[in-house]
Amino acid sequence: MTYQHIRLPKDGEKISIRDGKLAVPERPILGYIEGDGIGADIMTAALRVWDAAVEKAYGGRRAARWCELYLGEKAAGKYAGDYFPAETVEALRDLVVSIKGPLTTPVGGGFRSLNVSLRQNMDLYACVRPVRYFPGVPSPLRKPEEVDVVIFRENTEDVYAGIEYPAGGAENRKLAKFLREEMQAEFFDEAGLGVKPVSAHASKRLVRKALEYAIERGRASVTLVHKGNIMKFTEGAFRNWGYEVATQEYREHVVTEEELWKSHDGKMPPGKILVKDRIADIMFQLMLLRPSEFDVIATTNLNGDYLSDALAAEVGGIGIAPGANIADHVAVFEATHGTAPKYANQNKVNPSSLIFSGVMMLEYINWREAAELINSAFTAALADKTVTYDFARLLEGATTVSTSGFADALIEKIRA
Ligand code: NAP
Repeated sequence: MTYQHIRLPKDGEKISIRDGKLAVPERPILGYIEGDGIGADIMTAALRVWDAAVEKAYGGRRAARWCELYLGEKAAGKYAGDYFPAETVEALRDLVVSIKGPLTTPVGGGFRSLNVSLRQNMDLYACVRPVRYFPGVPSPLRKPEEVDVVIFRENTEDVYAGIEYPAGGAENRKLAKFLREEMQAEFFDEAGLGVKPVSAHASKRLVRKALEYAIERGRASVTLVHKGNIMKFTEGAFRNWGYEVATQEYREHVVTEEELWKSHDGKMPPGKILVKDRIADIMFQLMLLRPSEFDVIATTNLNGDYLSDALAAEVGGIGIAPGANIADHVAVFEATHGTAPKYANQNKVNPSSLIFSGVMMLEYINWREAAELINSAFTAALADKTVTYDFARLLEGATTVSTSGFADALIEKIRA
């Protein structure tokens, strides 16, 4: 395919999929989208950190070949006002593994969220958000070290499917009439109406991904989080389909909580993964009071949205929380915070969310040594209390550095 504005590095090779697995060459072409607002600041810093870690880990034997792709405001500038160029989506698929900065979304009008469009357009059905504590990170918890969970949030349906009709519109009136007259539904006049589809297909593939991850990483449990006590045929169905996948497709790997008490006297058989479920509202309390009981979490879209940010806040906030949107193989890693426009181009904000998303990306392509170097460098920088403004205001005696200064500090630790 010939691209209009995308230039593939000549000395790199594309990642491919062979026998259902990623085949990663020594010089893979990885896509990156700078993002809007603070995107340029954090991407510039993060690219330097990832390259330094790969260089240190593999001494030149491996190196990423970066390919810039365009989405959001930078794309609009290049593609005559198009914020969502088709060739970017094509390249994200073609390159298999990419990473992006944050993108602007206007509230209550304008265009649809580019992030949501991207997830749905590319069917990136699992939003994966690891939340773990690094020593020295300011936290409101008494024992933040007990937090170590990975959230798998369904990305393509639920109330995010975009099936919504504004109050007063012709479609809304039509749907309201149908619901009242044919389905005997009761609700106030002039209500905005939204539809919440939750399917077996989307629920099962999400739970499958969470289970695969738990098996591969030797995690202890998978918790299905839902609001099935109220929304029985959507959230409740998600729970039931989740158990179905676990017990029918992963029988030899799992024990359900019910089986644990019925057949195992409450003692986990070694090497098995406990599959349990919790109602969404109590989950927020449990993750504050007894976080060590949770490991991998699989949940529907809206629950996952709230839960991801709330849990991130327990261990440093969205300034450092990483994330990824993953299909069967194609993956787009991303900073989880927004564009923080008031800080754009000030070289001020914390680049860690993007840097850790890159750590996830390095793990995804199985360059774990490079990923681990960044984790250790971060811990060492925190031990020195060398941090950006956001952490400095929470840490006594901290040295405040800029975005690029923080990258420099990490690179120095990586090379040490
Ligand atoms: P935001 O951009 O995340 O910023 C909210 C606040 O979070 C900032 O004012 C800042 O707090 C803190 N923050 C965010 N990123 C930080 C970083 N890297 N380092 C340190 N602090 C950071 O959220 P928003 O203001 O609600 O949204 C702004 C725009 O971003 C909107 O257009 C929204 O739609 C979009 N957005 C995009 C994504 C995405 O692309 N994935 C996600 C969320 C929002 P202080 O002011 O306290 O310093």
